[in-house]
Amino acid sequence: MRIAIVGAGIAGLASALLLDSAHEVTLFERRDLLGGHARTHRFGHEGRHAFVNPAFGYIAPAMYPRFIRLLELLRVTRESAPASVTVGSTGLHRDVFVTPTLSPLRVSSVLDPLGLQRMLAVRSVTRAARALDDADDWTTTLDEFLEPQPVSRFVKDEVVYPWMAAVSGVPIAEVKAFSARAALRYPVHVQPEGALRPFGLQELTGGVDAYVQPLLNRLQTTTIRRRVELRPLQRSHGRWQLTEASGAQHEFDSVILATPAFEALALLATLPDADRLREVVAGFPYASTRILVHSDTSWMPRKKSNWSVYNARHDGPNCEATIWCRHSGEFPYFKSWATFSDRRPSLLHAEFEFHHPRLTPGYYRSQSLLPALQGLGGLWFAGSYVEDVDSHESGIGSAIRIAERLNPDSANLAALR
Ligand SMILES: Cc1cc2nc3c(=O)[nH]c(=O)nc-3n(C[C@H](O)[C@H](O)[C@H](O)COP(=O)(O)OP(=O)(O)OC[C@H]3O[C@@H](n4cnc5c(N)ncnc54)[C@H](O)[C@@H]3O)c2cc1C
Repeated sequence: MRIAIVGAGIAGLASALLLDSAHEVTLFERRDLLGGHARTHRFGHEGRHAFVNPAFGYIAPAMYPRFIRLLELLRVTRESAPASVTVGSTGLHRDVFVTPTLSPLRVSSVLDPLGLQRMLAVRSVTRAARALDDADDWTTTLDEFLEPQPVSRFVKDEVVYPWMAAVSGVPIAEVKAFSARAALRYPVHVQPEGALRPFGLQELTGGVDAYVQPLLNRLQTTTIRRRVELRPLQRSHGRWQLTEASGAQHEFDSVILATPAFEALALLATLPDADRLREVVAGFPYASTRILVHSDTSWMPRKKSNWSVYNARHDGPNCEATIWCRHSGEFPYFKSWATFSDRRPSLLHAEFEFHHPRLTPGYYRSQSLLPALQGLGGLWFAGSYVEDVDSHESGIGSAIRIAERLNPDSANLAALR
């Protein structure tokens, strides 16, 4: 079969890996760089070098079995990245939640009865949230879930809502209407067994793009077309026509749209008899996010002993995080979410904009409708929006589901499943 894959992020690359050799595959990518969000930016400061993954941070092993199998297949190594969390309030002029790791000074947050109480309260919330997994419930909102929990108003308003807003990249009022299961997915699944242990995360040695070239090296028959802008899809006589902005035309039996949902929607814009498809794909909302990479310590908690790997600070309506990157090169630096803040760090190394999904109950209703539309007329949807929360794991999962239909005997599929 002739198959087009549009988009070379994790979903498109994994699709290519799983279909290569069995089919005649062409991978179209708008940019020069392959990998999509799997991008590592290298930069320098005062003669020293570092790297940053602007749209990637960590792997939570319990949540990433298929991505880990891909990394093992490609012989890409991972490192342990124990994480700690501080949540601070600008209004209260203090840190209100500090997990007890990193420094011996941090023991004080456990010895402080209030600190301990809050930690146990947050832990009881994440424990209770496991029921959402058991019930496969993506549509209960965060406030519907959190309000009945037997924890104090302070913990809800000053810790849990702000922290989840920071994780989700939206204002605090908005995260309350997010899917509770989605908003709490990482805190629930990276929670260590012992109360005083750090969150058990991992990162890729050398940056998230470490897997891109090894994956490309395994493609034997896939044709890659970079820097290609495609016109909306057309279909005639049972085949798909893809036309590049340059006018070059290609015909395929199947097309896999491995782009974010809003880009897939643009490619479906003029397809006849596709209103239902467009309606479902349009049901995945996105927001934009600004990431700043810098060395300005004023973005970190005022008390240095409260510095965590993940530092969220809220100012009332918004809460954004700064990650302390200490092992990504020859000098430590900070990676901050700065979508709602006008502040500019004094020593800025790089700035990025991304679109990320807004994980509302409506998003998950669209997700539940998509499987029935997959493969109709040979049109497929891959991407991290297709299942679960958006991550490398869901990107791979979406590619696996398609390969199970188009190349069920693939050895790579057997290795990843
Ligand atoms: C700030 C931030 C932090 C994150 N942290 C993590 C993390 O710690 N762990 C994790 O697992 N995930 C994280 N994610 C999410 C993760 O990066 C994404 O979910 C995942 O990489 C998306 O993969 P994808 O293949 O679906 O899409 P993308 O990576 O967006 O790839 C889509 C590709 O399609 C191309 N494209 C789009 N439209 C067209 C078109 N019309 N024609 C041709 N090409 C097109 C794009 O150029 C792009 O290369 C983070 C995201 C953000 C924004």
